[in-house]
Amino acid sequence: MTVYEARPFLGGRATSYPLNDEVTIDNCQHILLRCCTNLIDFYRRLGVADRIHFYQEFYWIEPGGRMSVMKRGMLPAPLHFSGSFAALRFLSLADKMSIAGGLLAVKYEYGKRADLDKISMADWLREKNQTPRAIERFWRQVLVSAVSEELDRMAAAHGLQVFYLGFLANSRAYEMGVPTVPLADLYSSEAWSRYEYVKIEPRQTVQQIQIEGGQVSSVSTNGEPIKADTYILAVPFERVKALAPELPLDLSSFTHSPITGIHLWFDRPVTSLPHATLLDRTIQWMYNKQDGKHVQLVVSASRSLIEMPRGEVIEMALRELNEFFPAVAQARLERAHVVKEVRAVFSAAPGLEEQRPLQTTEISNLFLAGDWTRTGWPATMEGAVRSGYLAAEAVVKRFGSKQSFLVETAPLGSRLS
Ligand SMILES: Cc1cc2nc3c(=O)[nH]c(=O)nc-3n(C[C@H](O)[C@H](O)[C@H](O)COP(=O)(O)OP(=O)(O)OC[C@H]3O[C@@H](n4cnc5c(N)ncnc54)[C@H](O)[C@@H]3O)c2cc1C
Repeated sequence: MTVYEARPFLGGRATSYPLNDEVTIDNCQHILLRCCTNLIDFYRRLGVADRIHFYQEFYWIEPGGRMSVMKRGMLPAPLHFSGSFAALRFLSLADKMSIAGGLLAVKYEYGKRADLDKISMADWLREKNQTPRAIERFWRQVLVSAVSEELDRMAAAHGLQVFYLGFLANSRAYEMGVPTVPLADLYSSEAWSRYEYVKIEPRQTVQQIQIEGGQVSSVSTNGEPIKADTYILAVPFERVKALAPELPLDLSSFTHSPITGIHLWFDRPVTSLPHATLLDRTIQWMYNKQDGKHVQLVVSASRSLIEMPRGEVIEMALRELNEFFPAVAQARLERAHVVKEVRAVFSAAPGLEEQRPLQTTEISNLFLAGDWTRTGWPATMEGAVRSGYLAAEAVVKRFGSKQSFLVETAPLGSRLS
């Protein structure tokens, strides 16, 4: 099997690059939850699973610095958060009652209600009479980062999925995995070298897919035709039409949602927390990248920042960070870097799921992979791995073998060791 990759390195959007000789930064902080069972399986196959650190605490901070911690307690799922949830300081009793009712509805409706892909998460929350603060500080705070989209642009199916699989399914599913190495080290050619039959060809852009007699006859990279039995096209959705115009795919419903990452380097530590979610402001998450001196801030669905000049983005980030971490006021900013990913992810909009193509195509020796193909997941590394596993299942099926690669999340209430 040969992989032709346009860039000099692997990882696609989930990669890192050197800013200068001293610093390597991730394209943007990438995190996973323990319910991302296929991604974790993929890391295990690549021998890099031990490079992910799982955190059991979520830190929620209000402007002014008041902090609440969410973590599992002694009770089994789905009651494992009961103790810490009751103690959250940024929600009133009425907010908590409304959220508890909402989570109960997630438990009963996820996977059962037929219209969840058609309505938005905002519609669903209104239907469940959620209080404005519960929506803003709880549902929105979790979901905009998890699905990379605003509540009124996000299919309710994905909102419920995050809470069902991540918060209710089992008591460890919510744990947040953060790579301890730059992303490029997770998806490196070295990691793949244990699979002798996989050949990686970097700097090889596929320019065209030749289709003759209803079959792919070859693909060309740098003008050279390459022949194979089977081809898997694993490029982002916006590249597909240019490479294979004959493919009868209607991708007109796909649009992008942007993500912005802001790196700040200070002359002294500004926090000792490993990460935190920041309430009521533009910045949604803070990740401590090094000793509290280098922090990365993330804004998902960051449409309001796309036109904003980088200097203003940095000023806004400093101003907001100061409201959560008072040490920022004394610290000197030594360096800042803003990464605006305008085409970060596909927008997981209501009605999109049925427009997402399967991994099989009308051409029997051409398969599709990529987070945007039909996986049931929003644009995530888990979705990307699922698409790859589904494509692999379809390929072996074509040759008469029935093999399953997908790892399903443990069902509701199950106990994980
Ligand atoms: C800023 C940002 C933050 C994110 N945060 C998270 C997160 O915290 N957690 C999470 O799970 N996900 C996150 N994601 C989403 C995640 O990065 C993607 O869902 C995932 O990487 C998609 O993988 P993919 O293989 O489908 O596509 P890609 O990663 O885009 O890979 C496609 C590959 O195809 C190559 N290619 C394109 N055209 C050609 C060609 N003609 N010939 C050869 N090669 C070609 C590209 O170079 C690329 O390597 C984030 C994404 C962004 C942009």
